[in-house]
Amino acid sequence: MKCLPVIAVHGGAGHWRTKKSLEGILKYIEESLTAGMESILEKNAVEGVLKAVMVLEDSGEFNAGLGSVPNIDGEIEMDAGIMDGSRGDAGAVAAVRYVKNPVLLAYYVLKNTNHVLIVGEGADRLAEQLGLEKMPIRERQRRDPVLSSRFWARKEELTGDTVGAVGIDSECRLAAASSTGGLAGKLKGRVGDTPIPGAGFYADENVAVVATGIGEVITLGALSRRVAEAWQATKRIEIALRLVLNEVNVRYGENTVGLLGVDIYGNVHAEYNTEAMPWGYLRYGENPVIKGLPTRM
Ligand code: ASP
Repeated sequence: MKCLPVIAVHGGAGHWRTKKSLEGILKYIEESLTAGMESILEKNAVEGVLKAVMVLEDSGEFNAGLGSVPNIDGEIEMDAGIMDGSRGDAGAVAAVRYVKNPVLLAYYVLKNTNHVLIVGEGADRLAEQLGLEKMPIRERQRRDPVLSSRFWARKEELTGDTVGAVGIDSECRLAAASSTGGLAGKLKGRVGDTPIPGAGFYADENVAVVATGIGEVITLGALSRRVAEAWQATKRIEIALRLVLNEVNVRYGENTVGLLGVDIYGNVHAEYNTEAMPWGYLRYGENPVIKGLPTRM
């Protein structure tokens, strides 16, 4: 069986009332789609989503890689994950500080270790040993702590701009990748959904899904995996995403999450309950399509 290659990326669910420019968001989403598609065509779906996320990490426009937001101590601690649906295998890193591209480190965990998730100092040491490019030293930017007792009080904090990508290659292999600096003002050591397979990212032989929003909600609901289950029941990605978003709305309320998925038929869709979630897709041989942009910045 042959499939039409497709790549889709998002720039995070949130209220997006940021100082960032719409042009910047559009430019980097498009660049990410183009670079991701090139890698899908030259290599495979996993390399495609890896490349797409690396472009967004390097842009400095999003809350991932160079643009990561600081934690309560003013330091950055990043999370990332990548999954190869055809092999049912994943690699991830959490609370990393050393590396410029956490998703690349996650890819090394997938390819070159016996583990799925490596955190903190151990992950930093691995990046150094691998000779991966280092994050430039940044001045500490102290942040107001997130003091609310539980996630529903934190909705105002959800500014958006975590990144993720899903893709399918011509051999019908699906892949998903995600990267974030986490929630601004988070406690040191806090890990969100982004490096947790089945929560922030998931891929199998039928679907690839990434999630963005309040990591605690996404993790508690195992949302990416939940979409894969809903796809099994419906065989329609847009319905599967809608069903899961409805479940989230009932259980945790609105303004909490966004989901992006592609399926084996090459159908791609996103659903979010926030003000915006910039996302786009590129089908082989067509022009990029970008949606979900904020109407006010
Ligand atoms: N899900 C990310 C986290 O909780 C944040 C985001 O998607 O904006 O770490």
